[in-house]
Amino acid sequence: MMSVALLAWALPTAVLTLWLLGIFRAQLATDRLVILAFHRFVRTDSPDATHSDSEPAWVTEEANFEEQVAWLAREGFTAIDLDGLAAIRSGQSPRPARSVIFTFDDGYASVADIAAPILMRYGMTGTIFALLDPDAHSRDLIRGKDRFLQPKELRALADVGWSIQSHTVTHAILTELPDAQLDWELRESAFCLHQITGKAVHHLCLPRGGVSNRVIECARRLGYRTICGLGKGTARFSSDPLQLPRLSPLRHQGGAALRWMLTPVGATIEIALARLKVVPTRLLGARHGYRLRSWLYRSPLRAVFGPRHVKRTALALVAVWFVLGIWTLAHVGAAGCP
Ligand SMILES: [Zn+2]
Repeated sequence: MMSVALLAWALPTAVLTLWLLGIFRAQLATDRLVILAFHRFVRTDSPDATHSDSEPAWVTEEANFEEQVAWLAREGFTAIDLDGLAAIRSGQSPRPARSVIFTFDDGYASVADIAAPILMRYGMTGTIFALLDPDAHSRDLIRGKDRFLQPKELRALADVGWSIQSHTVTHAILTELPDAQLDWELRESAFCLHQITGKAVHHLCLPRGGVSNRVIECARRLGYRTICGLGKGTARFSSDPLQLPRLSPLRHQGGAALRWMLTPVGATIEIALARLKVVPTRLLGARHGYRLRSWLYRSPLRAVFGPRHVKRTALALVAVWFVLGIWTLAHVGAAGCP
């Protein structure tokens, strides 16, 4: 009976260990590419009514961002954009020793006001995945807190070296759209952004976790060369350009947290947790997965599963699991003694 219990413990443990080792091994690659994802920004010293755990991954504090950028600059990271990635992949440009791509989803005014001046101070630029006509849900989320960048502001950023790329027209969950509307979202956003900035639009960020083979195929057919979406983690220059993973520092994380996140062990933990976190989205679809996550972050359960605490919870569960294993092993040993 006890050996059955031991087997029930050992098998999942072996699968989990192999899974983690696979992620860890990928973090040792020498062609790692760090793609960071941010949304909106707040001044660290300003009273901000939204300072809650309900949006820790969608808000970044100015001082924490400055710490991250300063650390990356000190460590010799070169900021490139997605066109730069394509040029390096095709051999047209040399690969810097360490590369980072800063991406900013949705195109909030706070990116221009807070993040851009910091990056400029370090001689870096970023990529904005802009929305052209955000839907009511997206507008409501930031009402009274921020606003979307206007076309002339996007052009001004493009003129000083920023890359302005597509996040669709309305921020729709693309997997829910019929083919014609999906086609329109991707085609129209590239066309309009090109009209605004005068520069090519070849890169797409999928809104709100709406990813499927149909969406990726449509984007590829329309000429998009890279896609960022749901995947979390460090990318490689050899990664599939149509499924580029990114890392999202949380609101309270500064330079030290980013440094840890980029170590092989730190990256492994981040990626493992991120892959577990998307399970509800995979099972329930993007809309219900998003609702469940939003509810979880507002409910009392956020003290256990909220983004600030989930790492601690996962480590506690792993510790309990191993104690259980040792206890089972000890009893099997005791039962086996003459
Ligand atoms: Zn978005």
